[in-house]
Amino acid sequence: MSHRNNRLLQYVLGVMALVMLCVVALVTATLVVQLLPGQRFHNGLPRLLLQITIAGTMAIGLGAVICALAERSLRAYERQFLSRNSDSERRMRQEPAWLAPFVSGYARSMAESSKQVEELRAELLEHEVRERICRVERDELREVIQAMRDAVIVTDAFNELVLANDSAVRLFGLDPEESLNCPIEELIDDTELVRQIQAARESSNSAARRRIEHEIEGGDKSGVYEMSLGCLCDSKRQAAGVITILHDVTREREISQMKSNFVAQASHELRTPLSSIKAYVELLHDGEACDEQSRQEYCAVIQNETDRLDCLIDNMLNISKIEAGLIQADWQEIDLSEITREVVSFLTNQAERKHITLSSKDGQLCYRATADRNLIRQAMTNLVSNAIKYTPEGGRVTVEVDLADCNRSVMVAVNDTGLGIPPQAIPRLFEKFYRIESYKRVAKGTGLGLNLVKQIVEVVHKGEVGVESEVGMGSRFWFTVPTERNET
Ligand code: ADP
Repeated sequence: MSHRNNRLLQYVLGVMALVMLCVVALVTATLVVQLLPGQRFHNGLPRLLLQITIAGTMAIGLGAVICALAERSLRAYERQFLSRNSDSERRMRQEPAWLAPFVSGYARSMAESSKQVEELRAELLEHEVRERICRVERDELREVIQAMRDAVIVTDAFNELVLANDSAVRLFGLDPEESLNCPIEELIDDTELVRQIQAARESSNSAARRRIEHEIEGGDKSGVYEMSLGCLCDSKRQAAGVITILHDVTREREISQMKSNFVAQASHELRTPLSSIKAYVELLHDGEACDEQSRQEYCAVIQNETDRLDCLIDNMLNISKIEAGLIQADWQEIDLSEITREVVSFLTNQAERKHITLSSKDGQLCYRATADRNLIRQAMTNLVSNAIKYTPEGGRVTVEVDLADCNRSVMVAVNDTGLGIPPQAIPRLFEKFYRIESYKRVAKGTGLGLNLVKQIVEVVHKGEVGVESEVGMGSRFWFTVPTERNET
């Protein structure tokens, strides 16, 4: 039944109830008047007045009782709706039939409202859950950004700082609390960086990422950084901020510079002995060596230069093999004093040319260890050769062998009375290609010798390597080799 029909039925029933009420009241009043004793109320005006009074009183009284009953039922009915009980609709249908025509419209609109309320409540709950998820995701994202090694800066549409992770705080010396919501140009003293952030914001293009290599100067963190800037846009594609990520590429640039230097240095080192060999071979070929002694001299030069070439190529190959884990060590029990004596005798000529006293200090004791003989010999040769190279004429180089680490290792130490090493150079001394700038004039080299020593001792033999030195007083390079081989 439609809503309008319902209303009409309600009015008709209401009017009928009112008429019936009046009729009942009138009949009752007439009967009451008839039953009254005496002649005064049987005729005329007094009788009519009495009838109207009694009928009126009864109609009002009955009407009031019916209204009170109807209101009570309606209130109870309404309470069921508002009780938010999912069964309310079902229970409403069980209400007295006489009430249904009066309340069906009301019931329907209440049911609709109730349904809408339920839907809104479900929507609200969904929003609350979504908001909670967003909050958790945002916190996680913040933690990820905080933990990043790259410096991250987020600025808003007004160029004010919204977020700076720990790396950014350290890089720019920011105060994590005070810096927030401050204009970025007041916080960062780097015109180029500020200009790039501004430009990224003005581009209003979230798809376009700018990548610029930028050098930051001053402070501990100065170096070369790869700067990546992205504009953050809102739903209306308006610039809402800029995210700037600074990745430290100082080391990469240094390594690439080192590689270029190495290629140049290695080419130079290879070319020098090769040119020399070529020249002396030509002399021999052209018959320029007129006597046996000259021929012997030329051959000796060729031999030396060939050895130098051999050594350089060996160093390069050995380092790359050890790094790639391809070296096959020939494990055997060796006597390190014996190897020391061999190395000293091998390099005596080199030392004598500079009037350097080269000696070993092991007595005739035997210091045994399970190791690769050739590799240990190579490491020792590099250290003694360096000691001779960087010790001025008339100096002294001594090689010691001893037990160390409660007899669990054998230690070899090479002492010289040479130039010594500046303290700031010591941490980088065993790096590949590293050479002390001011000593490059003193001797030729590739900066590979000490790195090879480190690889042989630490990677292959699981020993230790170290240096103590004082500028102008000399150096002590040492390494240890475990006496027993630990296979793990
Ligand atoms: P190089 O071929 O240049 O000698 P190394 O790797 O053997 O390469 O040595 C690296 C640098 O360490 C050398 O260039 C030199 O500056 C420094 N160095 C090595 N040994 C000594 C030493 N005994 N005294 C002083 N400086 C040394």
